[in-house]
Amino acid sequence: MIIEKLKQLRNKEISAEENVKGFLKEIEKNDKKGKKINAFLEIGKNAVNDAKETDKKIKSGKAGKLAGLVIGVKANINVKGMHASCASLTLKDYKCGYDASVIKEIKDEDGIIIGICNMDEFACGFSGETSAFGATKNPLNTNLIPGGSSSGSAAAVASGFCDLALGSDTGGSIRNPASHCGLYGLKPAYGSVSRYGLIDLAMSLDQIGTLASDLEGCRLLFDIIKGKDEKDATTSPFHRASELDSEHRKKKDIVFGYLNLPCDKDVKNEFEILLKKIGDRYKIKLVKINYIDLAIATYFPLVYVEFYSATRRFDGRKYGARIEEVCGPEVMRRIIGGRMISKAEHASRYYRKSLAVKELIRKEFLQVFKNVDCILSPTVPRLPHEIGASIKIEDMYNYDALTSPANLAGIAALSMPKMSVNGLPIGLQIQAENEDIVFKAAGLIESL
Ligand code: GLN
Repeated sequence: MIIEKLKQLRNKEISAEENVKGFLKEIEKNDKKGKKINAFLEIGKNAVNDAKETDKKIKSGKAGKLAGLVIGVKANINVKGMHASCASLTLKDYKCGYDASVIKEIKDEDGIIIGICNMDEFACGFSGETSAFGATKNPLNTNLIPGGSSSGSAAAVASGFCDLALGSDTGGSIRNPASHCGLYGLKPAYGSVSRYGLIDLAMSLDQIGTLASDLEGCRLLFDIIKGKDEKDATTSPFHRASELDSEHRKKKDIVFGYLNLPCDKDVKNEFEILLKKIGDRYKIKLVKINYIDLAIATYFPLVYVEFYSATRRFDGRKYGARIEEVCGPEVMRRIIGGRMISKAEHASRYYRKSLAVKELIRKEFLQVFKNVDCILSPTVPRLPHEIGASIKIEDMYNYDALTSPANLAGIAALSMPKMSVNGLPIGLQIQAENEDIVFKAAGLIESL
């Protein structure tokens, strides 16, 4: 679909201006009115003008690889002149003075930024309900959560408010809403995409990634934003999870591995049916990742400590109100928890222990990748709940049980819409050492 549209734009069958205006009309109809999706926090004032400029470039044959495609951006990524509020009152007036590296790359290729998307406050959340500016609705069923924390980015694509979107994923925040909204969502391997201009949740786990309604779209945008950036030292190839030579893999067929982890019954049933289909065509084997059951207990101490430290700059002197005075309960829980476990008397005991388990999990994955090329599982262990439903905190934290291991291991992971229960989509997660393998495996499954 996206590649088709790109061709139409290039052949001038539709103009970039028409493309943007079509989306603006949909947003006008259904974002704050109509279905009240609440996917956007801000609409770019320059979008139509940018589109006009792009049309000129297309006419002169000088347009970039994204020419005329319309992109939504999560509110924790800096877009010059727009607000990176992280959906928090602390940063509600923070107008970005510069473009994140990913935004510069998109603009250099003539992608058009249409607006800033709603999210869970500071990316702390699973459901899209913790935004200071109201919950986002799932476009497929507006009583349900769209998933989070990249809730607005996913809802915007699924509502037909933009072609593609950027999200960020620390423990599942791209894949989880991709799963609930029936989209493709990629969390690149740690170090594949620059984090320059991304406001941290937990800097050792965060990655910017892409959301789209088709696999090609997801890959197209990733290809633009990936790569080394001198403004982010973690993009050095030495920090890539992929230490094994991936060249040899291109020559042989993909071997699929799958995980058998606790999930709701409906999700498990659908996964088993899909595995059978895959197994009829390809080699597939059950794999085991030791310590994966410790992922949640490892992930949260790391996030709490790193997030607590990152929030110390929101002390009211530079950006706005002091974070503790205006933040919601989930952010507050992490600030208090992070402060507690960072205390000198604990001598970083919890943080260090978590780092050690993180390394164990990473090694386990790399070991398993000697036998299989990728690992399949459902993306989220359960179906989306109703907006406003009271969910126990442990159950909420468990939303990330299947996604957070990839962040801990620093590997790439994609959620693709391959299953459903009662019309609600369930994502299939494909994890691999790098994005090439993930996309190759996804392409094979897509063609089943
Ligand atoms: N749901 C997880 C959390 O709340 C993941 C968030 C994310 O990936 N940004 O920490």
